Amino acid sequence: MGALRLSCLVPLLWLMGCGGPSDPVIQRQFFAFGTLIEVTVADVPPEIAEPAIEAIEMRFHALHRQWHPWEPGPLGDLNLAFREGAAGPMHPSIATLLDRARPLAEASGQLFNPAIGALVRLWGFHDPETLHGPPPEPERIRELLDPFPTIEAIEIQDGMARSTLPGLQLDFGAVAKGVAVDEAIALLRRHGAPHGIVNAGGDLRAIGRRGDRPWRIGIRHPRQAEVLASLEVAGDLAVFTSGDYERFYEYEGKRYHHILDPRTGSPAAGITSVTVVTEEAATADAAATALFVAGPEHWPEVAARLKIRDALVMDRQGVAQLTPGMKQRIRFELDPPPPVVLRPLP
Ligand code: ADP
Ligand code: MG
Repeated sequence: MGALRLSCLVPLLWLMGCGGPSDPVIQRQFFAFGTLIEVTVADVPPEIAEPAIEAIEMRFHALHRQWHPWEPGPLGDLNLAFREGAAGPMHPSIATLLDRARPLAEASGQLFNPAIGALVRLWGFHDPETLHGPPPEPERIRELLDPFPTIEAIEIQDGMARSTLPGLQLDFGAVAKGVAVDEAIALLRRHGAPHGIVNAGGDLRAIGRRGDRPWRIGIRHPRQAEVLASLEVAGDLAVFTSGDYERFYEYEGKRYHHILDPRTGSPAAGITSVTVVTEEAATADAAATALFVAGPEHWPEVAARLKIRDALVMDRQGVAQLTPGMKQRIRFELDPPPPVVLRPLP
């Protein structure tokens, strides 16, 4: 989360700067995946836009249910079976998720690791009710990471899945929104709407243009309620941000946030937010999480392995570290802009 649609952030701005009868934009909002989803469609009549948005909303609600890691549903039920050491039915949409996640987990060196669901639960980040301290005991963390869980431990046979590691739990929280956004964009196109944005709580993919202009996207500052930078998208691009400000609690003066380093079992340190720009939302989502975990020194190596050219990392010192590709793409909106360090990809 963290990208904002700059142009239409404020209704007034919308009317003044980018709306108007010759530039029809249709916009709808709804809640799914625990966040506000906003679909914007440009340059098609309502007869095309409305059914497209309707289809997207229905799809998001279905996926939310199917991919929820602990509520009853295909993934929740599978995790329950794994907890009991049993096999469970592999729902086709979970199989799709696994297939999308597998190469990303591997390329990230398992820094993006959807098999650490038990760790997410132990920390309490899976549920707003348990979003408080104290942090778990180090021994309990070690128990969950030794042996180290990965999705490679899941065996699928005749439509049934079982885990070779008894405690393994799946949590696709770091990629599911991206996969859903990609599906939504495909739905837009299938309905004959080639211009639009699907924005899931600030993480978005934009296609086409807004009339005769590119879409303008804002990237939120991780520590201030302000727009840090903006970029223009004409064509087809996803902009995804992972930040330590999205889900966290404070305990005895220390911040514990929801992006966990699978190597240590604790919240990844050193970075406050990562924004990734790339074609596919699923890749952007998983990569933003992986780069965050990789940390302020090593993230360019992981970006290269994930074939990400454009990334912006805000480190704990407030320095904006960016790839040469990202430097060309963005414009800082903050005045004065943050200190900048260029990080070429290896
Ligand atoms: P958000 O969904 O808030 O934008 P992310 O995409 O970074 O943020 O996903 C974070 C979520 O992914 C966490 O809430 C947790 O469910 C899960 N998660 C945390 N750490 C990891 C990790 N290293 N690899 C895979 N999933 C993770
Ligand atoms: Mg992510």
